[in-house]
Amino acid sequence: MQISKSKALFEKAKNYIPGGVNSPVRAFRAVGGDPLFIKRADGAFIYDEDDNAYIELINSWGPMILGHNNPMIREAVIKAMENGTSFGAPTAREIEIAELITTMVPSVEKVRMVNSGTEATMSAIRVARGFTGRDKFIKMEGHYHGHGDSFLISAGSGAITMGNPDSPGVTKGTAKDTLLAPYNDLEAIEKLVAANKNEIAALILEPVPGNMGLVLPKEGYLEGLRKICDREGIVLIFDEVMTGFRLAKGGAQELFGIIPDMTTLGKIIGGGLPVGAYGGRKEIMEFVSPAGPVYQAGTLSGNPIAMAAGLSMLNYLNEHPEVYTELNGIGDKIVNGFKTSLDKLGLNYTINHLGSMYSLFFTDQEVFDFASAKYSDTALFGKYFQSMLHKGVYLAPSQFESLFLSTALSDDLINKILAANEAALLEIH
Ligand code: PLP
Repeated sequence: MQISKSKALFEKAKNYIPGGVNSPVRAFRAVGGDPLFIKRADGAFIYDEDDNAYIELINSWGPMILGHNNPMIREAVIKAMENGTSFGAPTAREIEIAELITTMVPSVEKVRMVNSGTEATMSAIRVARGFTGRDKFIKMEGHYHGHGDSFLISAGSGAITMGNPDSPGVTKGTAKDTLLAPYNDLEAIEKLVAANKNEIAALILEPVPGNMGLVLPKEGYLEGLRKICDREGIVLIFDEVMTGFRLAKGGAQELFGIIPDMTTLGKIIGGGLPVGAYGGRKEIMEFVSPAGPVYQAGTLSGNPIAMAAGLSMLNYLNEHPEVYTELNGIGDKIVNGFKTSLDKLGLNYTINHLGSMYSLFFTDQEVFDFASAKYSDTALFGKYFQSMLHKGVYLAPSQFESLFLSTALSDDLINKILAANEAALLEIH
């Protein structure tokens, strides 16, 4: 496999862009080698600048749940563009998407559109603080909520991959209001709550975290959090930027039947364009300006092209619930096939899997929180990643990420993925 064009582009990019990329994990630091520069993508495949094709298991970190370059979304975007690209004024399409989100996501009675998941979480915390009149909030170790200052403390995803879970540049003043807890540990939450009585505005978490690799909530955990938050007047925020519209059309909250006070959304909601949203109970969302006093705004928020792409995606998912059965089937086939090969080769592993999300960890321990995720053999993961890449399968270039499957994966492609996986495992074990 020739990757000379990507290599040359990466060298050039480093002259003008920090580290040569616009988002850190893309640089392949954790897995070695140079990143691929992508020319185009279609269906289940992405193509690099050297015209190599790869089967996609990341799908732009989640958004492309129907595969790349979906004709329906492409046409919606082109049609919208014929009327201009940005107005900075309200449009009918914004009402349409807001109404649709409120019907799909159980906790959302009112919603504000933003441009990224980061904006959604930053804004949600501010609103929860405004609503409760309290400053502190609880965040789980290893969860990632974008790059807002108050979240870059024991952060997962790229922050841990790059070795900076606590980023320099975040002031001590900011950090002191972020209270940390291990995921899946209700006792730890009870202790924090008791030690900070009536001071905690919000508890934010990924209900099914994907940013320390995929980890599943223990039985009763989400329910326990809901009870504690109700008792203490704490705003429970589910960050469903990854899980929203993916685990079910109403996200993890629909799947587990636990309804938070607020929800943050991103990725799939924009159909591949930069969109995020935060929403929740009416009485909380009424605190957002201009309905209420908590300020939050955006020049390009509700952008007509982005809304057209998002609406096209969400309408499709809303009208085709069979997508989720299909995705679950694809996930089961891949994960079961992987397990068969791993068992055959006698490798130590844990696979966490839910629907169309999964992570393979090279460890024989159960992975249920940040500490246990870090036991996995990241060097071996790097070798596995490279081997899969050379066999034409594109994985997330870090152990601390989930994979995101799409409906574009046919049985034939799944068999190719399973064959590549077994060959890669044979090579590295
Ligand atoms: N929240 C979660 C759970 C995420 O996974 C991410 C990004 O991966 C974000 C927030 C931040 O979203 P964005 O990258 O769109 O700012």
